[in-house]
Amino acid sequence: MSIGGLDALAAAIGADRIETGSDQLDARRHDYWALSHVRDFVGSPAPRPGALVRPRTVAEVQAVLRFANERRVAVIPFGLGSGVVGGVIAAPDAIVLDMGAMNAVRFIDPVNLLAGFDAGHNGLAAEQAVAAEGLTIGHWPQSVAVSSVGGWVATRASGQFSTGYGNIEDIVHTIEAVLPTGELVTLGKGSTVNRGCVVQTHLFHDRIMRMDTVVLGDGATLGPHCVVLPAAKLGAGATVGPASLVMRGDEVPPSTRWQGNPIVPWNASRKKGRGTKPPDSGVEETAA
Ligand SMILES: Cc1cc2nc3c(=O)[nH]c(=O)nc-3n(C[C@H](O)[C@H](O)[C@H](O)COP(=O)(O)OP(=O)(O)OC[C@H]3O[C@@H](n4cnc5c(N)ncnc54)[C@H](O)[C@@H]3O)c2cc1C
Repeated sequence: MSIGGLDALAAAIGADRIETGSDQLDARRHDYWALSHVRDFVGSPAPRPGALVRPRTVAEVQAVLRFANERRVAVIPFGLGSGVVGGVIAAPDAIVLDMGAMNAVRFIDPVNLLAGFDAGHNGLAAEQAVAAEGLTIGHWPQSVAVSSVGGWVATRASGQFSTGYGNIEDIVHTIEAVLPTGELVTLGKGSTVNRGCVVQTHLFHDRIMRMDTVVLGDGATLGPHCVVLPAAKLGAGATVGPASLVMRGDEVPPSTRWQGNPIVPWNASRKKGRGTKPPDSGVEETAA
């Protein structure tokens, strides 16, 4: 079954990123789930997806998900296809989002013991990249050479040394996630979202749904039970105290502290006659 409107998607991300040929689609019908291969063999084959899309950038992933959301088309990510439960099998009216072209090492930071990878990066190649700096990711699934970093996170993978280093969710520091509607939540390095928070990228206003990005800069902290509305941005090192509301489009300056509903500068220890900062400075008075 073909998917309508692929021309529009091709205009957004490039026709060369979209495959609809039978051979290419057949090559993405399976992971390692043995039963689906057996079913092929006995004449009950896994479905052929409607299209295969290979984004190169986060912006292209967003474009694909916006397209699919508008047309109510299902999207199934495909890492390196080493899954063993058929998670990549897509219906004939679905898009397979092949992450294989997003395979860069984004950074290796030996001082803070952090490394960043595109979701489609091969697991063993990721390990080799940090090993060149004398480091290890500490994640060794048996499939390390045939699985992707994004696939590890999506499946909450375990490895041979997980007892020592923890499961993948213990090792992951930050993720950049494109949501099904295409909008992006960016969590900078070392940022913290505490329990009970709502990082909201949708808002209904006059019955029209508005969407926008939410950004938490490096080291930003969102206290427990906070709500952040669309288009808000917490600068690097900014702190928003518990049970606070960051309004739509708010830009919280770097290295400042805010609290309240809606947020105002958080001068938690301000006392009479102690030389308070201007109310809009966002700089906390430190206790003596
Ligand atoms: C020989 C062998 C040994 C294995 N050993 C282990 C092991 O030791 N430990 C272990 O945990 N697993 C193991 N597995 C299972 C498999 O390798 C893991 O689940 C691996 O994490 C899957 O990664 P992948 O990139 O191949 O994902 P895929 O198989 O491509 O996808 C798996 C699922 O994740 C989703 N997905 C993939 N990438 C993304 C993404 N970027 N964003 C959102 N969703 C995504 C897919 O839609 C699918 O549902 C093994 C598999 C084999 C064949």
